[in-house]
Amino acid sequence: MMLAHEEFYKDLIDHLFDGVYFVDRNRTITYWNKGAERITGYQAGEVIGHSCRDNLLNHVSANGVLLCLSNCPLSACMEDGKPREAEVYLHHAKGYRVPVRVRAAPLRDANGEIIGAVETFNNNTNTVNLRHQLRELRRTSQKDVLTGVGNRAFLEGRLRAAIAEFEHKQAPVGLIFIDIDHFKEFNDTYGHELGDKVLQMVAATLSYNIRATDAVGRWGGEEFLVLLYDIETENTLDCTAEKLRTMVACSGLDWQKAPLQVTISCGATMLQPTDTPESFVRRADLLMYKSKQAGRNRVTVG
Ligand code: GH3
Ligand code: MG
Ligand code: MG
Repeated sequence: MMLAHEEFYKDLIDHLFDGVYFVDRNRTITYWNKGAERITGYQAGEVIGHSCRDNLLNHVSANGVLLCLSNCPLSACMEDGKPREAEVYLHHAKGYRVPVRVRAAPLRDANGEIIGAVETFNNNTNTVNLRHQLRELRRTSQKDVLTGVGNRAFLEGRLRAAIAEFEHKQAPVGLIFIDIDHFKEFNDTYGHELGDKVLQMVAATLSYNIRATDAVGRWGGEEFLVLLYDIETENTLDCTAEKLRTMVACSGLDWQKAPLQVTISCGATMLQPTDTPESFVRRADLLMYKSKQAGRNRVTVG
């Protein structure tokens, strides 16, 4: 039975905006607050009693390396008693990847023995901005109904605006053309309904992993465009496209034994002074096609 003051503390932690969870020495999850439910999409009942080592939460680093098995911040802080902080990408119940800042700290009993660890994590700024953007898209009928990102009309408007602005500001704009690999085969194997869920998953991974001021939309079928504003160099464009490619490749729909995954091919290019919306998109599309020819699941910058 829970004591009144325990109830109070549980309630208090539940009302924090951050995700908070506890693991014992075996890395079995013993507590999972409401913030953790909101950020990950997993309810307390689905995770309590499971080991975080079971790859349940599936944290990966920015280059897509799985942290749960060999490089878990919770394990490390239980080993040496030192708190840790890291930028990781967690697996949402709907399959997409969310960037979060995690802080892990050891928990000790009255004798100072480490009895477990607590992890807190948040992704505040991006979600607040995303919600605002979604409301705006809905209000102006520029939202793609299936995936929730901008639709083609939204993208065409953004492309026109970027070109108009470029004429007097000269601030660099980057464009990434994204096409899901072998998606027809995916639909043929798993059905159109799961195909639709994958489109939603890819769209969410893209929108969570760009800056709030950037733009993402569905160009058609299984093609997306991402517009990046005020990027310093072509290298930033390359790194962003590479991060998106990696995060999509390690997104996955929970399904039977293994997650359902897809990859994307990308073409990325900077806006040129002579560009029209059509020439800008065509160049990115041709670069994407080069990625397909070179074997897919890659980025070509030009
Ligand atoms: P590639 O790697 O060369 O891009 O191969 P692909 O199979 O992805 O390319 P293709 O253009 O031949 O097929 C695109 C497929 O995307 C065809 C269609 O089944 C699927 N698709 C397009 N729109 C939707 C949609 O709204 N929902 C679902 N489930 N599938 C879609
Ligand atoms: Mg296509
Ligand atoms: Mg395709």
